[in-house]
Amino acid sequence: MAKLPILMYHNVSANTAESKGLTISVEKLEQQLQYLVSKGYTSIFFSDMESNKIVPPKKPIIITFDDVYENQLNYAYPLLQKYKLKASFFVPFAYVGGYDDWNDGQEKIMSVEQLKSLDSNVIELGLHSFRHRPYDSMSSEAVDTDFQECQDFIQKHKLDVKNILAYPYGKFPREKSKKSSFFNQLSAHRIAFGLRIGNRINLLPLHTKYELNRLDIKGDMSLSSFKLKVKFGKLLF
Ligand SMILES: [Zn+2]
Repeated sequence: MAKLPILMYHNVSANTAESKGLTISVEKLEQQLQYLVSKGYTSIFFSDMESNKIVPPKKPIIITFDDVYENQLNYAYPLLQKYKLKASFFVPFAYVGGYDDWNDGQEKIMSVEQLKSLDSNVIELGLHSFRHRPYDSMSSEAVDTDFQECQDFIQKHKLDVKNILAYPYGKFPREKSKKSSFFNQLSAHRIAFGLRIGNRINLLPLHTKYELNRLDIKGDMSLSSFKLKVKFGKLLF
């Protein structure tokens, strides 16, 4: 069965000593991207899959970055261009042009102009909620309001955002009836794909569109662990 690994990144730093947790160094990121290219992976967009614009390549992979930090523009974007790889960037709209206030507010988030400057052949934008709150602790009314705020922002600033959604913290309601009503809401808001974490490899054809798994690529991961994770998913050692 064909596999679809989806990689998840956050911050990118020029400082190799900072490569840990949600921050990866440019050096490590470049080694990983080089490895993917050397192994014949073809990066695709979610929007390619949805519209069947492309025949799925032999070894598809999706590269994702959450939170649209300015450091992704400075360090990840040039590498993606260099290796001719595509990536999906997920935007928490309330913080665009500001800081990551849901964390400690230290990291700069791209501005509207910076988001618009990204080449749409290299980067597709997706939703990461409006206020970066976990969906599993929100009422359905609050979820609807959050979607509306996203749409208002997108229209106001004329941004090209695809109907794909990365759940903040990977969280979504797990209890059966809450989960199905949440997924119904996603359908009502025309979301094509919803992304959790899960650390598993997706199989094609996809049997679910709202529980796609992403592989959490940590900054302190060795290149050999990265290779295993891309191939097998969750590492048991
Ligand atoms: Zn996030």
